[in-house]
Amino acid sequence: ELHRLDGRGYKAYKGVAGRYAFSGFTLFIDHVQGDPFASPSRLRVRVPREQAGYPAEADANASRRVGLENFLALAFARAIRAAGGRYPELRRGSGKSGLLAIDAPGQEMLQRTAIAVTDAFVEARFVAGLPARGRTILGRAAAEMLGEALPEVVEESLFYSHNDQALLWRFVETAEDADALRAKLDEQGLVAFVADGSILPRRSGVDPRPLPASEAVPFQSPPSLRQSFALPNAGAVSGMGIPAGVTLIVGGGFHGKSTLLNAVERGVYNHRPGDGREKVVTVESAVKIRAEDGRYVAGVDISAFIANLPFGRDTLSFDSANASGSTSQAANISEALSLGARLLLIDEDTAATNFMIRDRRMQALITREKEPITPFIDRVRSLCEEHGVSTILVIGGSGDYFDVADHVVAMEAYHPVERTEEARAIAAADAQAREAPDPLQPPASRVPLPGSVDPSRGRRRIRVQARGPDTILFGEETIDLSAVEQIVDPSQTRAIAHALVHAWENYMDGERTLVEIVDRVMADVENRGLDVLTPYLVADLAAFRRFELAAALNRLRTLEVRR
Ligand code: ADP
Ligand code: MG
Repeated sequence: ELHRLDGRGYKAYKGVAGRYAFSGFTLFIDHVQGDPFASPSRLRVRVPREQAGYPAEADANASRRVGLENFLALAFARAIRAAGGRYPELRRGSGKSGLLAIDAPGQEMLQRTAIAVTDAFVEARFVAGLPARGRTILGRAAAEMLGEALPEVVEESLFYSHNDQALLWRFVETAEDADALRAKLDEQGLVAFVADGSILPRRSGVDPRPLPASEAVPFQSPPSLRQSFALPNAGAVSGMGIPAGVTLIVGGGFHGKSTLLNAVERGVYNHRPGDGREKVVTVESAVKIRAEDGRYVAGVDISAFIANLPFGRDTLSFDSANASGSTSQAANISEALSLGARLLLIDEDTAATNFMIRDRRMQALITREKEPITPFIDRVRSLCEEHGVSTILVIGGSGDYFDVADHVVAMEAYHPVERTEEARAIAAADAQAREAPDPLQPPASRVPLPGSVDPSRGRRRIRVQARGPDTILFGEETIDLSAVEQIVDPSQTRAIAHALVHAWENYMDGERTLVEIVDRVMADVENRGLDVLTPYLVADLAAFRRFELAAALNRLRTLEVRR
């Protein structure tokens, strides 16, 4: 068929959409691109489970299955690279001609639409650029690509007998161990755990791979915080348990404080073997909180932290197209709490100082009536004691927090040392009376107005698209997610973009609260998979959390809410 199309106009490719039986697998050509420069065509290959040969233990539970799927996505990507070396001429055409690509994972092992393993089959979804010169079909190249290169890729990557089996089992077991470890945190009264021997630092700010072992200081728990667990595959593991409560990470500049906190904030996800953070786990409902000046804020109750703004501005339902450092940080906390965050993670590097502390001298100069902010230091204990919300705080610049901390961990040349007793003694010798704030009220709930979230506004068709990890184009609006640090994969951003439309189409009715809407979407994904979010099969979506979905909605600059 492809040979017959050779030399014809590109549109003739449309006719090859459909389903083809190969030996050992089925190829589905789901969507054919309109021209060689357009988004590439969408394809799938499906190998019957029996022929693929994976033992039942490889996906005996959901944790293992995600590990296996991530392994297979990487194996498929590797096989594409190898085939590229064998068929270099395929890429000589115009535009995306000859491209084969699968959405392979980064350091985090997330459920993704690129690979699905079920009891019946193993399926890989990928894209292909059907070859052309100008807009003329290169039918022989297409036949070589789909008839020779692709079967080799499938052969090398999707059959158990051809896999690097030792590596496959490492993926499966690493995923299962991480989930098992996270599940044990609660019963031990912990909010996070960092295993001894973990490698926390990354190669660079733009390279998330681990620093090579020769340059990295492996993590070693202080004896006083050491906890041990028995894991299903790795057996006994020991490391630093961070108890529920208020924990400070202190220490001199450049001693590894932020690196530790970053590892903890990513501990809500599992990491692939070799990452160095495979056994760094954090409770699922941990949210990184930071200042984000310029943020859009719609009707958020920030009164717990900020009241009496100039000109009588409302903080029970605070609106701003350009929030300050402190008001944006307050909004971030309020939103996280309403979604059920149980652990807040804050780094002084990205926090607003006036939101975090107000020292004695400043309290003497600027009295309570003139300062709208109740600093976080005056809320952190009641958050913990009355609302069960723990905090881990990196703070090298203020000892005021010694008064309110349960644990103080000092980073000293990348080694954590527990210094709680000394910090307590220092605080006791220099006791400071702080004015007690009013009790903390839970934030009021917010109902999004559907008309304010219309992605078809200004156009006739809904147009929503992710651009990189940090940007969603939503109708005519641009949502900036660059400060939402727990989005770790551009495929999550793509999925969130679709999830916003799904939420708007199905659940925003002017009655449901934002939290209820987010819950419905997450339940749909849980019950029916990421495919529930899109009208057709998409090959490059990854699992995301409720916090990040809400973060995107909350940053949509047209959003209006009713209290
Ligand atoms: P701080 O927040 O205390 O100022 P950072 O966490 O930013 O320090 O770390 C400073 C530098 O040290 C970074 O370049 C980081 O990659 C590196 N680093 C952090 N932890 C380690 C470690 N365990 N081994 C080697 N280098 C590290
Ligand atoms: Mg730092």
